[in-house]
Amino acid sequence: MSELNLILLGPPGAGKGTQAERLVEDFDLPYYATGDILRAAVAEGTELGRKAKEYMDRGDLVPDEVIVGVIGERIDSPEALDGFLLDGFPRTLGQAEALEDALRPLGRRLTAVLSIEVGDEDVVRRLSGRRVNPKTGRVYHVEFDPPKVEGHDDIDGTKLVQRDDDREETIKHRLEVFHDQTEPLVEHYEAKGLLRRFDGSRSPDEVHAHIRATLATLRLEEQL
Ligand code: ADP
Ligand code: ADP
Repeated sequence: MSELNLILLGPPGAGKGTQAERLVEDFDLPYYATGDILRAAVAEGTELGRKAKEYMDRGDLVPDEVIVGVIGERIDSPEALDGFLLDGFPRTLGQAEALEDALRPLGRRLTAVLSIEVGDEDVVRRLSGRRVNPKTGRVYHVEFDPPKVEGHDDIDGTKLVQRDDDREETIKHRLEVFHDQTEPLVEHYEAKGLLRRFDGSRSPDEVHAHIRATLATLRLEEQL
């Protein structure tokens, strides 16, 4: 079977992590979310975490040189030979170019960039109501996807938390950073014919069905 090298693109709160959970199950792909990787590094107090923390707390992007190597290592690992799902990377044109530079010598290329589109108002509502299981990263929403028992994870009962950067002032800044530094990637990937757009204001199941259908069509086209 052909490789499936995928990127999830979209503003913070678009539902990238929510969709990734489903796609990883559908396609059995290794999933690399730079936000999760960085938060784990901060929690463990590694050098990467120490370098990243102050940027993350402010809602700024960590510098490209800090994050590029982290992803380069993973896409070149044995588990990623048949493909990968990237979430939250690339987030700048520099990172997109670094990714292309890392794939080229491996004789690989991207299959598609899945762009989940939602407006700023939805982003604010989604991020301010987001709650996460700090152990597993599983995501809930106080209004749109509440846990069965308020404040606790459905599966392991862990107390849910609000991410430090999901507070209103930081959310606004992260949105500005998205429009300024990450949104230009939409045009970049459109020009390469890789972009696939999805209406992220629909329900998680509807967005998922649409992505699945698109990937199925892409695979059929590749076989022709
Ligand atoms: P969200 O899921 O809300 O979009 P993430 O969990 O992906 O947010 O990212 C949280 C923070 O981690 C970002 O605000 C940024 O500081 C840092 N970060 C994550 N990925 C990258 C990246 N590719 N480049 C630079 N910074 C990143
Ligand atoms: P991202 O990874 O892009 O930052 P998440 O998947 O963490 O986004 O979703 C952000 C918040 O919005 C979470 O609280 C999640 O439960 C909720 N959410 C995700 N997708 C949808 C959707 N289609 N409709 C309503 N709420 C959603």
